[in-house]
Amino acid sequence: MKFRYTLGFILAMTFLFSCQPKQDKTVLSETTTAQKNSFEFFSEQFADIKILRYQIPGFEQLTLEQKKYVYFLGQAGLSGRDIMYDQNYRHNLKIRRALENIYLKFEGDKNTAEWKSFETYLKRIWFANGIHHHYANDKFIPEFSKEYLASLIEATQTNFDGEALDVIFNQEDAKKVNLNPEKGLIKGSAINFYGQNVTAEDVDAYYSAMKVDENQPVEKGLNTKLIKENGSLTEKVWKSGGMYGAAIDQIIYWLEMAKEVAENEAQAKGLELLIAYYKTGDLKKWDEYNIVWAQATEGDIDYINGFIEVYNDPKGYKGSYETVVQIKDFEMSEKMAALANNAQWFEDNSTLDPSHKKENVVGVSYKTVNVAAEAGDASPSTPIGINLPNNNWIREQHGSKSVSLGNIIHAYANAGSTGRLKEFAYDEDEIKYEEEYGQLADKLHTALHEVIGHASGRLNPGVGTPKETMKNYASTLEEARADLVGLYYLPDEKLVEIGISPNAEAIGKAAYDGYIRNGLMTQLIRLNLGDDIEEAHMRNRQLVAAWAMEKGSADQVIEKVTKDGKTYYKINDYAKLRDLFGELLKEIQRIKSEGDFESGKALVETYGVKVDQTIHKEVLERNSQFKSAPYSGFINPILVPQEDENGNITDITVEQPESFTAQMLQYAEDFTTLPDEN
Ligand SMILES: [Zn+2]
Repeated sequence: MKFRYTLGFILAMTFLFSCQPKQDKTVLSETTTAQKNSFEFFSEQFADIKILRYQIPGFEQLTLEQKKYVYFLGQAGLSGRDIMYDQNYRHNLKIRRALENIYLKFEGDKNTAEWKSFETYLKRIWFANGIHHHYANDKFIPEFSKEYLASLIEATQTNFDGEALDVIFNQEDAKKVNLNPEKGLIKGSAINFYGQNVTAEDVDAYYSAMKVDENQPVEKGLNTKLIKENGSLTEKVWKSGGMYGAAIDQIIYWLEMAKEVAENEAQAKGLELLIAYYKTGDLKKWDEYNIVWAQATEGDIDYINGFIEVYNDPKGYKGSYETVVQIKDFEMSEKMAALANNAQWFEDNSTLDPSHKKENVVGVSYKTVNVAAEAGDASPSTPIGINLPNNNWIREQHGSKSVSLGNIIHAYANAGSTGRLKEFAYDEDEIKYEEEYGQLADKLHTALHEVIGHASGRLNPGVGTPKETMKNYASTLEEARADLVGLYYLPDEKLVEIGISPNAEAIGKAAYDGYIRNGLMTQLIRLNLGDDIEEAHMRNRQLVAAWAMEKGSADQVIEKVTKDGKTYYKINDYAKLRDLFGELLKEIQRIKSEGDFESGKALVETYGVKVDQTIHKEVLERNSQFKSAPYSGFINPILVPQEDENGNITDITVEQPESFTAQMLQYAEDFTTLPDEN
């Protein structure tokens, strides 16, 4: 589970699933008077993307051994960068490399509109790790002609033809992940997790027949591509000697180096198991690794590395490759620990039916860390938090680790402007609260969502996992549930009592205003007019906001106001809204606990999918005055080893890359670990 967003906001995890809110919340709050330091967070903007930079606070304080540990883990991560491209789409590597070759070799006129369009197209591919939008999932439409590309290919003598070339311009493989069952979950998805001739029914049949230990089930199919050969289904395993073996061998090489400088025994043991897993592809080893990893809580450095989140698989089995390396942020961690220490209180005092409450909330921990390196699915679009492992029985029996990525959140918050807030907030009061309390409210919501929300609740005996019972609605419902736990507690005095909120009422007000504003309006800037909402976190946010709007309509809890021809949603009764959130929380937990698919489906389809076209049109018009791109991502600081004459590392320094393009080309040069086709 990992959560993402843009700008001081929400999000977070999932149980079985993992939450991967890629920069979810629309950029609304921003530091206004905030102490921006001299560091330039903004790098550049193109298409709908903003590229930011981040710093690594605390890196200088690490010992040489610790710096090496960070560096080796970072190198391991980047060694798998190519995997993510191939997982996203079978032609991505070929396309990317062809276009990079053109980019490097072309010596013609670079001032034409078509060249600029070509450049933008390539940058979008780098950002998305492929030719489909990282968030909307749609294939990019190039703004240059096929003839123009042909002329570039010719001029640079680039070896590029066939299906990989054609698909840039045709209607094939238009969607990376399709969640509309009518179009075929597999057939309608371009993702490279299943053979071309494999159907959704094949996947169901194959994995339901796969026997696993019921008490300690492995994550079936997590590290394989399922293919059909001569009519029978079989898996190509991602491991050393298997599919992606060349990249995985490089990952192993660097993990071995990291193991030598691990901070403690537990870390070294974890790496040993991770290496064993990469060598064998054995998912039992992956579980063993995750148990050790979850319990390795000592030390200042931590990381994730592997095939982890399953959001990119419409069937929810296949893990996308990613890595994040982090350094502890001691100050924020203390605050979050206060929440974790009171996890049982929050469970006991929630609105859940008593039979759906956990008697013992296990292993909740939440820390703020600072990112030192990212790759794969975590880069350039990065999560803002991580909650792992995903395997539910490990979480229950051995605990889990949950962290918020502090420097990433800080960079988001310091790279924007306040224009959108002023456009969509109802009045000065709402703006004032957002400016004063918005960022903290978002942090607290994220923490509650993660630490309390995803850990809360239990299933009735004999009811299958939400993935089985709720199917393609599982993710949205889990996110909604976790968000609601946060919403319910944000205005609670308990947060003041445990020392993490300065003012229950103010935090609650800022959080509720922001949530409703986003759920009913501003998140729509990410969608094209006429589109349904597809992404789980966006669905969840509209579901929660629209449900509360409707259920509170008799009392005008949330009022739709028109002022100067513009629509606003104004909250009239914060206490009643809190009650409504509590009520919906109880209902969603009931649905999950009982495995009530029909009710779950009805909630999502009624409130979370269809968009009010009038509002959407208005939002897009009002938003068009702002140039700030709706999506953000990051270039990574470069860790540079300093060596003595014998090749021993004497220090590691941090440098900033010259530009997004420079970094992407450097990565291509240093970390090309896979062939075009895998
Ligand atoms: Zn979540």
